[in-house]
Amino acid sequence: MHPSRIEIDLEQFRKNIWTIRKCIGKSKLCLPVKANAYGHGLLKISQAAEEAGVDCLGVSCLKEGAILRENGIKIPILVLGAIHESQIDLLAKYDLEFSISSKFKADLVASRLKSPCKVHLEVDTGMQRTGVRIENAKAFIQHVKSHPLLKVVGIYSHFATADKPKDPFVYKQLSAFIELKGALDGATFHIANSGGTLFYPESHLDMVRAGLIAYGYLPKKAPQAFKEIAPFFSLKSKISYFKVVEKDRGISYAHTYKTKAQTRIVTVPVGYGDGFLRAFSRNGSVLIGGKRFPIAGNICMDQFMVDIGEASAYVGDEVVLIGKQGEASIPLMELAKRARTIPYEVLCLFNDRIPREYHF
Ligand SMILES: *Cc1c(COP(=O)(O)O)cnc(C)c1O
Repeated sequence: MHPSRIEIDLEQFRKNIWTIRKCIGKSKLCLPVKANAYGHGLLKISQAAEEAGVDCLGVSCLKEGAILRENGIKIPILVLGAIHESQIDLLAKYDLEFSISSKFKADLVASRLKSPCKVHLEVDTGMQRTGVRIENAKAFIQHVKSHPLLKVVGIYSHFATADKPKDPFVYKQLSAFIELKGALDGATFHIANSGGTLFYPESHLDMVRAGLIAYGYLPKKAPQAFKEIAPFFSLKSKISYFKVVEKDRGISYAHTYKTKAQTRIVTVPVGYGDGFLRAFSRNGSVLIGGKRFPIAGNICMDQFMVDIGEASAYVGDEVVLIGKQGEASIPLMELAKRARTIPYEVLCLFNDRIPREYHF
């Protein structure tokens, strides 16, 4: 048994899905499961999502979609990232819906297809990432429709600034996108990410693609109706070593932390090789026995040290790095702030060395 684990509470995941459902009414729900389901585990989250009645899964590339099909996922899967021409046969074989973001790609795909394929046309309304310019969108739609094997089932765009309410640029993107509504009957129109889902109900349209909020991370200003949403990812380990250290001793690489008095130092077997960022060196705490203690010195590849002062703890005691212990908690949002990044990045960086444990 590995001493560390990532605990995933699928009961809370289902609550999040139901809460989003309630808030989006008749719109469909696409759950992005790219990047190993934001670190939560691609297959297990996709299976739970399928059971919970999610309408569609969003992946970034062929590989993620292929894994899901190989493991029996039946609901629609949309590849959101740009595809490469060498992948067309497999995209078709695995029945993946994919994005067409230029006339060039449309022609390329059409020339290689042997059977009909479901595609979503991507229109750029201001993200400047992928997608045809909004000015060319109507002509583009007509052009793609002329290829009999390309079945256009969706048209979508992506918000750049929807993580805050009442942003004028969101309304600009939305109104440009809605202009296209009449251009193709029956296609699913979608633009809302988590921000759109939370703050811009008029952007829900036929489907929302809500990632971060489904994983439980809400901004402070989130509307009341979403407040039952909560994170369900915890990181726990066990003390692997205990020692008493004299005053004025340096701890870990480069001795960036010095003991101010004789103290107790415990070692935790988690490091940046697991995805626990080195940016948390001397910049964060963990929970032991329901109390917070500071990370002492630099995080190593596979372990780090914690200064527990006068407190008592034993080898094998539980350490919580992310999540709750008794009344105390360390939210992932706190770690993201400490590392000067966003929760998405902290989650995605956890790899498979620490096993994930699913609670149904
Ligand atoms: C990742 C992604 C989303 C989900 O974004 P969140 O901010 O996590 O809701 C939606 N749409 C596209 C195209 C994406 O790439």
